[in-house]
Amino acid sequence: MKAPAAKGGARSATAERKAAAAKGGARSATAERKEDARRRLPSVDAVLREAGPLDARARERLTAAVRDLLAERRASGEGLGAGAAARLARERLAERDRPTLRRVLNATGVVLHTNLGRAPLSARAIDAMRDAAAAVSVEYDLAAGRRGERHGHAARILAEVTGAEDGVVVNNNAAAVLLALAALAARREVIVARGELVEIGGAFRIPDVLARSGAKLVEVGTTNRTYARDYAAAMGGRTAAILRVHASNFRVIGFTASASSKELAALARERGVAFVHDLGSGTLLDTARHGLSEEETVQEAVRAGADVVTFSGDKLLGGPQAGLAVGRAAAIAKMRSHPLMRAMRPDKITIAALVATLASYRDGTAERELPVWRMIAATTASIGRRAKALASALTAAGVRASVIETRSTVGGGSLPEETQPSRAVALDGHATRLAQRLRRADPPVIGHVIEERFVLDLRTVLPEDDELLARTVIKALKEM
Ligand SMILES: *Cc1c(COP(=O)(O)O)cnc(C)c1O
Repeated sequence: MKAPAAKGGARSATAERKAAAAKGGARSATAERKEDARRRLPSVDAVLREAGPLDARARERLTAAVRDLLAERRASGEGLGAGAAARLARERLAERDRPTLRRVLNATGVVLHTNLGRAPLSARAIDAMRDAAAAVSVEYDLAAGRRGERHGHAARILAEVTGAEDGVVVNNNAAAVLLALAALAARREVIVARGELVEIGGAFRIPDVLARSGAKLVEVGTTNRTYARDYAAAMGGRTAAILRVHASNFRVIGFTASASSKELAALARERGVAFVHDLGSGTLLDTARHGLSEEETVQEAVRAGADVVTFSGDKLLGGPQAGLAVGRAAAIAKMRSHPLMRAMRPDKITIAALVATLASYRDGTAERELPVWRMIAATTASIGRRAKALASALTAAGVRASVIETRSTVGGGSLPEETQPSRAVALDGHATRLAQRLRRADPPVIGHVIEERFVLDLRTVLPEDDELLARTVIKALKEM
């Protein structure tokens, strides 16, 4: 392979020298040095020879990286040997090829960290996903030996664990809300309390979703207080549904009032309209048992009489990204047969992970098996013991650290402002530098900064990852 870049560089150096000579001016020391370096740069061929045998594809990619590297050195005036150039070009390629979607250790103290993929999955769900990655009976009825129903797999277990008549799964809860409204209320009116016209994040705004579904928004009540009678007064011939939206990421305190799910379900029933309840996080377990405030569970929302209850798969449920809609058979059937369903249907791997996650609830093992609930249920005593062990291991390895008391949060648009007591390991040193250094570790460790100290909150790290965390932090900071 020829090396036009290197030759070109040499030529231009000569030209420059001639030009300088023609001007008769004295050349600066910097210009001299740059020219020297240019002459000392290896050819692309020489660098590739250093790199050893390569197949055609690898050679082509390395050649491009070497050309870029030499062009930079030519411009900066720094010299470079052929061997070093080969090594640097290879490192650059490896850096560029490294996936940006990587497993990280979440020591932020935020259980459902949206930027870190919300719920980590259970071993059971991960096994199911691995199996489903091969050929699976996603739309095949094994008993009958013919085409089967994609939606059947999750529907049965969803109904069982929530107490609903039926259920359907789409890509996320935003899709579930959109589909419910499109299927039940298109071109007609949907009544929503003013205090529930919320933005969930990622530009998911209830008024916009309503508009996209083809339904017309009718606002009732005030920001802080809305009563069942406000909904009743707004109902007319064009009303198709009442929509209730969980205030997931904020809290209204003080002089407030809202209609209960039961009242709204009764009203909807009486007037022959649908009641759609977007629960947001949608917990199947009692949050109050772990020192968090009480949340209406999915089972309670179903029992209250909603036609459709929607919630996320990857928030408090602790499963994969998905949108779950459960409720009365007739309403769920309308959603399932709506044309939008095809654009929102989940893939086989999501279905597998979701069914495995739901199986933990069915078997009564959710708090033991699902990482989200294991983290929420962890006691401060056990977190404290682990923090102490981590701090000792780090200190023994020359990384100064100490245990501090912290407060962790559930996050991910669940239980806003709610915290649980936790324990963290605070590292001695410059917080920003430590954070940066650990983000570059393998696997990257994501902590947070409290009062200018970099801390690793252990509630959001699973005990089986403690050793990996210690090893990774030591390795990363020893190299500092
Ligand atoms: C989180 C949330 C959503 C969006 O759910 P995704 O699964 O992220 O699409 C919608 N509504 C409420 C009330 C939420 O809390």
